[in-house]
Amino acid sequence: MRNTDITQKRRMRNALFVAFLVFMLLITRIGWIQFVKGSELQTMAYVQQNLNRNINPKRGTIYDSTGVALAVSATVETVTVNPTNISNEDKEKVASALSQIFELDYETVLKKVKKKTSIETIIKKVDKEKTDELRKWMNENNILSGINIDEDTKRYYPYNDLASQIIGFTGSDNQGLDGIEAKFDKELKGTMGQILKLTDAKGFDIDGTGESYVPAVDGNDLVLSIDMTIQSIVEKYLKEACIDNVCTDGGNIVVMNPKTGDILAMATYPNYNLNTPYEPNTDELKAQWDSMESKDKTTALQQMWRNKATTDGYEPGSTFKLITASAAIEEGLTDTDNKGEFACTGSIDIAGTKINCWRHYRPHGAQSLREALMNSCNPVFIGLRTKNWCPNIL
Ligand SMILES: [Zn+2]
Repeated sequence: MRNTDITQKRRMRNALFVAFLVFMLLITRIGWIQFVKGSELQTMAYVQQNLNRNINPKRGTIYDSTGVALAVSATVETVTVNPTNISNEDKEKVASALSQIFELDYETVLKKVKKKTSIETIIKKVDKEKTDELRKWMNENNILSGINIDEDTKRYYPYNDLASQIIGFTGSDNQGLDGIEAKFDKELKGTMGQILKLTDAKGFDIDGTGESYVPAVDGNDLVLSIDMTIQSIVEKYLKEACIDNVCTDGGNIVVMNPKTGDILAMATYPNYNLNTPYEPNTDELKAQWDSMESKDKTTALQQMWRNKATTDGYEPGSTFKLITASAAIEEGLTDTDNKGEFACTGSIDIAGTKINCWRHYRPHGAQSLREALMNSCNPVFIGLRTKNWCPNIL
């Protein structure tokens, strides 16, 4: 009898021990789920239960100084699908309608519609007349969920190639990629809005919860100091000058208001069409485009987009003589026609370095400021800048 008692007690103790062990394991597991994996699982649940679609804000307009819009955002629409919300028997019908309306490849669309993901983009930035066709089809076929048509914006440049290297352009997500569009992206882009929708574990809408809507905040407008009229004139004559003088490297003109420093025009030739920034801009480039490697294409495009007036160094050389002459007259150092005031002996000594006149082999001799400018005489202007011009020894 005693022995059986002991055995029973031992059995009970063992059973209790096992129960305790299982209990401890469960507590550890709960702790693991709660504290270690907690935030990860919470995120997973949020993703599964919330079907969010972004609404793009309207990008700010870029104006010239007279109020002409140089870069505007037009309203377009983006079409997405929630594959899990489209019933299996409708999938092929939906794919066929989408591919027909938006002229897309049927197989690619069908693949997206059949995916197990919660959201797939069918087409971005299409005109409203196309999406109206889709709305009509959805009504006629009584397909009311699983296809979303959301407002979006598309950047448009009404003057195509005007001031292209200044303005720059945007990418497919409305982000500024070059020029003013990139430099002031933060100010122009605005804040993204969202449509939030609650779904169950399988991705179906939960009845009665509806959609909550966080509106997008549009970007700020920007006014440039560029005057569109001056810019157009400058571009027209720069182009003519570059063609007439066969400038293979192109050219630049900057027009500045000397009183305020405002840039009124800044032209680079050749320019490019801002509405098609990935297409070659010259006949020469167009001819070799298809045979070029993608690396060379990228280099050519970057060259085309570059605002050379601000990025490339250029030695002004003799063109700067105008500034020296104007400053000297304004400061009363000399006058335009003081006959024989200066002398060109073919060279001038500056801090031990001999600098030649371009016509050192036959020096210009006695010169007035006007004559020196006409002859582009180096020693006269070097002397004028250092207030140490050659005395007239002739
Ligand atoms: Zn000279």
